[in-house]
Amino acid sequence: MKQIVFISGKGGTGKSTLVASLGHLVHNKMLADCDVDAPNLHLLLDGTELYQADYSGGKKASIDLDVCMSCGRCREVCRFNAISPAYLVSSMACEGCAACTVVCPVDAIALSDAKTGQTFVHETALGRFAHARLAIGADGSGKLVTQVRRNLSDFQQNEDYVLIDGSPGIGCSVISSITGTDAVVAVAEPTPSGRHDLDRVLSTADHFKVPAYVCINKFDLNPAVSEQIESDCQARNIAVIGKIPFEPLVVDALQNGLTPVQAKIRTVIEPMENLWQNLTVLLASQSR
Ligand code: SF4
Ligand code: SF4
Repeated sequence: MKQIVFISGKGGTGKSTLVASLGHLVHNKMLADCDVDAPNLHLLLDGTELYQADYSGGKKASIDLDVCMSCGRCREVCRFNAISPAYLVSSMACEGCAACTVVCPVDAIALSDAKTGQTFVHETALGRFAHARLAIGADGSGKLVTQVRRNLSDFQQNEDYVLIDGSPGIGCSVISSITGTDAVVAVAEPTPSGRHDLDRVLSTADHFKVPAYVCINKFDLNPAVSEQIESDCQARNIAVIGKIPFEPLVVDALQNGLTPVQAKIRTVIEPMENLWQNLTVLLASQSR
């Protein structure tokens, strides 16, 4: 089974739309939304729930006020100002570092698992689909991405592909999205900042030694920058496997909860089909 992760330097490049569309075009695959900070693939995929679980990405302190003798040592040692003058711990501010538990003279402070998100696996018309929801203000998105991928592998049957909607940027959640995959497809828009962001995500893929390919979305909005991106890729020996034109009908389709494939928008379906064909050829050549 080949795992392909679609990433971008920032959100809003059309990465999720591409993954959801390929969900309709590619046979025998699973899907994962690893953009856990801003998941949206589920908006385009209906399904029945196969699995749901709370996720704990860390510890939080709590103080037993019946035991506490108000000595103030915990407040002095907490670098995150998580403990109020009334000795109540802010779960938003607490980083679970345990420093307060060490200095408390009466063992009034306990650390316990904190629910920081939920993970799900759904059966959809396009195949099994894993995703997650990170609680507002919670961190640990990298570990949550790993959990999403682990959940999906638990429900694996005999699929040929996993299409992963990865996190944007170059943070730890992206690294967790990329690790162990067979290919990265970096989706970029033809703007100067998009070109710069693409350079960063390609360097990240290179660092983790995952073969990378590029898709330029809305390439015709700025042909000059698109050409620069193609030249950059040529210099890096990276194939541009897809160039998708700007199509206003895509926005209308998405507003109606439809992928461009469901809305039968041929101007973008054909480039997406070409992208997939190019990718499968390159994946096959990687295996040789
Ligand atoms: S565990 Fe660390 S961050 Fe949390 S309240 Fe204690 S000292 Fe502060
Ligand atoms: S260190 Fe322990 S006893 Fe002192 S104020 Fe904090 S919780 Fe209370």
